[in-house]
Amino acid sequence: MLHDAIQIAPDTMARFALLEQLRHPIWVFDIDNKRVFWANTQALQVWDASSLEELSSRDMGLDMSDAVSRRLHQYQNDFERFGMTFSEAWTLYPNGKPRSLQVVFSGLRHQGRMMMLCEALGELQADPDTLRSAEALLHSSVQITLYQADGPALYRNPAARENVIDPAECWQGHFLLPADADQLQQQLLQSGKGRLVAQVLTRRGPRWHEVSARQCRDAVSGQDALLFSEMDVSELKDAEARAQYLATHDTLTGLPNRNFVQQSYPALLKQVQQQGGQIALLCIDLDRFKNINDSLGHAFGDMLLVQMSERLKLLLKPGQQVARQGGDEFLVLISAPQVRLAAEKLAHAIIDSLAQPLWLRGQQVQLTASIGISLCQDGAVDIQSHMRHADLAMYSAKDAGRNGVSFYDETMDARAQARLALEYEIRRGLENGEFEAFYQPRVDCISGKIIGAEALARWRHPERGLLFPDSFIPACEESGLVRELDRQILRQVADHLARWDAQSRALQISVNLSASQFTDPQLTRELQDILQQSGCRAASIELEITESLLLAHDQSTLDTLNSLRKMGFAIAIDDFGTGYSSLAYLQNYPLNTLKIDRSFISGLPQRSAIPELITSLCRILKLDMVAEGVETHAQLEWLRQQGCQQYQGYLCSRPVSLAHFEALLRDGETSS
Ligand code: C2E
Ligand code: CA
Ligand code: CA
Repeated sequence: MLHDAIQIAPDTMARFALLEQLRHPIWVFDIDNKRVFWANTQALQVWDASSLEELSSRDMGLDMSDAVSRRLHQYQNDFERFGMTFSEAWTLYPNGKPRSLQVVFSGLRHQGRMMMLCEALGELQADPDTLRSAEALLHSSVQITLYQADGPALYRNPAARENVIDPAECWQGHFLLPADADQLQQQLLQSGKGRLVAQVLTRRGPRWHEVSARQCRDAVSGQDALLFSEMDVSELKDAEARAQYLATHDTLTGLPNRNFVQQSYPALLKQVQQQGGQIALLCIDLDRFKNINDSLGHAFGDMLLVQMSERLKLLLKPGQQVARQGGDEFLVLISAPQVRLAAEKLAHAIIDSLAQPLWLRGQQVQLTASIGISLCQDGAVDIQSHMRHADLAMYSAKDAGRNGVSFYDETMDARAQARLALEYEIRRGLENGEFEAFYQPRVDCISGKIIGAEALARWRHPERGLLFPDSFIPACEESGLVRELDRQILRQVADHLARWDAQSRALQISVNLSASQFTDPQLTRELQDILQQSGCRAASIELEITESLLLAHDQSTLDTLNSLRKMGFAIAIDDFGTGYSSLAYLQNYPLNTLKIDRSFISGLPQRSAIPELITSLCRILKLDMVAEGVETHAQLEWLRQQGCQQYQGYLCSRPVSLAHFEALLRDGETSS
């Protein structure tokens, strides 16, 4: 029996006895157990129950939806915290048949637990639409509140009740910021309705709500009222904030990006115009960073960029902004009364800081940077001009030998135009086959015989005549056109070699491979094609790569070198001694030749320490050695004595055209 199972206190019993007398159906619902705990006779009829025992044996939890169950627990909480009483239209399903009743709910504490006292005021006789809309209001996740015009709420639907902290609050108190309440008030005064997205106070803390409010009348009392409907849009707001963050920040370094600089610039400009002072924009570009990416890999490059951005952040004072412009370029925006001086000082501090060596993955790296500065005085008032000017100034710092600072001036525009024009010209020149392989003989140090040559690119420009690599290679490298140039030179060399082969002239020609060509995944396939089309043997080609490519000592470099060797090509390290390669690593690579850089040969025979070191290194590693830039007999004599096998240099010949080279070959043949 129910009354035996649960001990009911004498005063509760007395209350139940009183309730039994009332005409309204009244029952007590045990929210925790989801059963009717007690019901008067009228309630038993409503529930279509034969007895209290039978009714309380029904497990109401069986077909109760999650939403209803959550709401009941919310009610329990409302009773507990606020002693709330409220009236709602409820539809019960006694034995499956719907009955809609207006029910007043209040809390009833029993044995330390909060139960729900339900009093049905009467059957709702409304039409089905009204019943359904009342039901919809109960279950809607839209939070609906009917406020008195100048007082607390008259009604809250369950979704609104779930959020309210103080049921007695007026609508203004619902907003976190008084300014939002004021704004809504203005809208209501103007048009009787209003809408805004604002932060409101809820039990879950401040949340973003989209609030719509409308002036109306209370249907019960006729007094002026306000109907609020609210949706929680916090997640949308968060997503929006995230999207805004992503649009204005760089994900790698967490720094603002160029969009951010563009967006924040007008405010800075206004501030400077009001308070005096001037703006400077610094464009910082890491020198030869592309080499690092090509040789050490992008992951390594990324880590380096993060480190560099940390250094930049440390240098800045409050109010100064650093952003990543993209790639290895950073922007710094500052304002100061004497901005030229401040910018110059900062730029040098940046150069010094970035130049500190650093260790990454067991590798010591040292970088330099070139910085361009644009000041307001240059007529740059909008951020676009600032960016363009700073960029031009940065390029001029690079042209001046890198690792330096340069201020923008008007002549730079003309130079930028010239650079673009040059790139266009090169493209056209490549299409028209204006680039030509010249040959500089490679000579046997002992016999003096020409045993091969290095192919060096020349541009037979239709108007400007014969051009040397220093006038086009940098532009080719910057624009990526160097790959096409390398391909064209290689094709010519392969064709010439096939011809010499047919004339039984055994020559080995070395060809320069740019870093981007070397790391191109298509490289081996392209080489294969070139060999096939020309009929030239791979063994007669030596590929010259720069030392920096070996710095990575990563697997892909080794794989590429191994497959080139397997195809039959010889590999030479160009300009040896100018890079930073640690000698110990050389033995890990399948190399054939080291070419000592001209700068070490020019000091011979006096300054001989490094050439001596390199000659003994070649002996130990069993590599051929080629001395570059040999201009005097004394230099050649020294090389002979050291056992260096080959040389190139003006002493024998400058790089010459194909016809001229073939003439040199014939001369050599007749003289021997
Ligand atoms: P490099 O590979 O170190 O080529 C040697 C450079 O030294 C050549 O300059 C050559 O003319 C010069 N040289 C040779 N002997 C002497 C000498 O006795 N005294 C002096 N003072 N100089 C000498 P060049 O032809 O102007 O080439 C410059 C650079 O351009 C090359 O340096 C190479 O890095 C690059 N290059 C040339 N052709 C190509 C090419 O087809 N592809 C690629 N990727 N780079 C190329
Ligand atoms: Ca070379
Ligand atoms: Ca060289």
